[in-house]
Amino acid sequence: MPPFCDVALPVPVDSLFTYRVPDSMQPIVGGRVLVPFRQQRLSGIVIKLHDCVPNLEPKDLLQVLDTEPLLDEQLLKLGTWIADYYLAPLGDVFRTMLPLSAEFKRSIVYRITDQGQTALHLAGMSGSSARSRSTPQDQLAEFRVLEYLTARDSVRVETLRNAARASHSVLAKMIRKRWISREDVSGRRKAARVVKIAVLKQIEAKLNANQKQIIEALVASEGKLRLEQFNALRLSRSSLNTLVRRRQVEMVEEPAEFTVSQSKPRPLPSSFQFNAAQRATLEKIREHVDVAAFSGLLLHGVTGSGKTAVYLAAMRTVLDAGRSAILLVPEIGLTPAVAADLHQAFGEQVAILHSALTDRERAEQWHRIKRGDARLVVGTRSAVFAPVSNLALVVVDEEQDASYKQEETPRYHARDVAVMRAKMANAVVVLGSATPSLESYFNAKKHKYTLLELPDRVERRPLPEVEMVDMRLEFQDTGHEQVVSRKLAQEIRQRLDRKEQVMVLLNRRGYSPLVLCRTCGKTLECKNCAIALTLHKRSHRMECHYCGFMAPIPKNCVHCGSDYVYFLGTGSEKLEELLHGMFSQARIARLDRDTVRGREDFERVLNALNAGELDILVGTQMIAKGHDIHGVTLVGVVGADAALGFPDFRAAERTFQLLTQVAGRAGRGDIPGKVVLQTYFPDHYAVQYAARHDFIGFYEKELRFRSWMRYPPYSALANVLVRSDDLDKALSWSGILAKWFDKTTHEGIRVLGPAAAPILRLKRDYRYHFVLKSASREKLNALLRAMLAQAAQQKIPRTQLIVDVDAIWLM
Ligand SMILES: [Zn+2]
Ligand SMILES: [Zn+2]
Repeated sequence: MPPFCDVALPVPVDSLFTYRVPDSMQPIVGGRVLVPFRQQRLSGIVIKLHDCVPNLEPKDLLQVLDTEPLLDEQLLKLGTWIADYYLAPLGDVFRTMLPLSAEFKRSIVYRITDQGQTALHLAGMSGSSARSRSTPQDQLAEFRVLEYLTARDSVRVETLRNAARASHSVLAKMIRKRWISREDVSGRRKAARVVKIAVLKQIEAKLNANQKQIIEALVASEGKLRLEQFNALRLSRSSLNTLVRRRQVEMVEEPAEFTVSQSKPRPLPSSFQFNAAQRATLEKIREHVDVAAFSGLLLHGVTGSGKTAVYLAAMRTVLDAGRSAILLVPEIGLTPAVAADLHQAFGEQVAILHSALTDRERAEQWHRIKRGDARLVVGTRSAVFAPVSNLALVVVDEEQDASYKQEETPRYHARDVAVMRAKMANAVVVLGSATPSLESYFNAKKHKYTLLELPDRVERRPLPEVEMVDMRLEFQDTGHEQVVSRKLAQEIRQRLDRKEQVMVLLNRRGYSPLVLCRTCGKTLECKNCAIALTLHKRSHRMECHYCGFMAPIPKNCVHCGSDYVYFLGTGSEKLEELLHGMFSQARIARLDRDTVRGREDFERVLNALNAGELDILVGTQMIAKGHDIHGVTLVGVVGADAALGFPDFRAAERTFQLLTQVAGRAGRGDIPGKVVLQTYFPDHYAVQYAARHDFIGFYEKELRFRSWMRYPPYSALANVLVRSDDLDKALSWSGILAKWFDKTTHEGIRVLGPAAAPILRLKRDYRYHFVLKSASREKLNALLRAMLAQAAQQKIPRTQLIVDVDAIWLM
């Protein structure tokens, strides 16, 4: 065994760390070791074993954690590529690739016991825990602990202490009384969540009002209710406990499956029902997969053309051949309904990696995949790192989606990593979209990818007709600023009369996005960001959409005290209210980040729409993505073109994509759809081409613009951002870098800046940036590397200097 090993640690430093290997230990490349680092113990990945004596006296390894490599040669190579390409510390990259942090956290959980349940019940009856020697404060804390635990299965100690405001001594005392139990679950592999379900056993005549309510709720839901639903229905917990003790209700535990959802799996279209274009596409993918060499395919299919069915059929082929496949979906795309479909299609062979998983569940899924128990992986961004072996196919659905780019270190783009991974594995990568990114379409045109097309909707359904409403004329005609134009109102009324459904997009949440003082002309800004606060009427507060800061609704101007405070503009919350006023009979729901807290909320609203229980769905871009609701025949677009005013070269592309996606929600059933597109920019080419469903037209026009301005795909681009909560530091650091860029020769690279970032202050940090463009990615990478070295020499902290390669936001 060589005496030294190099370890990648998850710290913001661009180097590896060398440790001595004690005789008793046998670390392996690609496996984890525990090492001392400053005052902590960290786990890192062994990159190399060697016998070069380091300059500094190395410390000893503390422990070898794996006897088998966690990262095989290909994933190690992929990680190294990411660290190099995105200029990220290798240890940070591996931490992102391996969702195993939960295996090292010491984890203590508490549960309520039967005695505890009884004590809680008695306390509820007498108002105090009877004959206890505890002080009144302690009694209250005990009560809170019991109440918190009775609603949950097991609770981590930190959570419990915060939620119930209980000290360690209170918890210790409760353990001695056997009201609660304590368990160390550190390093436990199996810790599946369970849900508690109340099951109705028998109904007795003598019930008080609370108990009656519970029984009625149970009867209404076919005798079964999850405990969390009790909370939502505000039913009395102590009455439930009484019913449990009288054996009228029984509490059972079931594994908390992500697929426990109200939606039944929808019948999957089998490839027998494919139309000719779908069949041809599937055949092409299969041919490429059979060659077992790298190839990239771009599947450009209009909205509603049946791309998903093709992906699933291709994955089935791969599975039958004994190989593996990964399907990446955008963050919003992986609903419980989709998971139910996948489970139905592939059973235990599929691992679904979604954001609702706990760390521990994520680790569990990771091991399942690593063992080869699941050979198909479906998930968001980080699923691209799934440790499958014998990879044959990677599919990236909606490849243009911004959620594939990670907005923290390492700032990788999962689509581009997917392409690289497929290359390393001699596999096929399929990028699919109705609105491919300029980069991908450009690559297809340059024959780097094979272009596959699904030009028609399934069952020859037509794309919706788009009617534009020029909101400037609407203002002239009506004399005031309209939110819902007369045309859109009339079309909505028609749909309501015909019992058809409507979606209305307004890509801005909240009630009013701006508070303006008519006396001094100032707006109300976030304390931490140079961003106006948005009024949220229902939650009764002002909110910053960037950092989450909240403030009370002002009655007077905070600057001059004047009471001429006006709330301007319209967000989705106000639009919903307006529509309620205009169509009082209509059943209206809203879908945005304020109404949707989890995937289940999201799914509940979509199910209601699907079942015809809603007439109008209002929402932000959340409503635009991939849903297949057949009853929607009208889509109204209200102010989706605001982004065209942003100082960002991708603004036109983003607007075109959003308009096309949301238009694609109309007319997916038997009745043809229509789109009413309200715009203040009717002449803008992004709006015009979207209205004509003309991707090629848009693409060619936009490419010409990118070519003139030397923007991607004609150059590689990086955004270098300097940030500090101290304005002087932010200025001086960007000055240091500016000077360095000035005196460094960097032929073939344009450096723009430093300039104040479009959002000068964000989350308390002042921000200045440089934009670097070059036709040569190698040169750009080398310059950035040199800049990082210079910054380190000048003692600019690595965490205050963000290098974003292939940045998709320049804000
Ligand atoms: Zn004022
Ligand atoms: Zn803020």
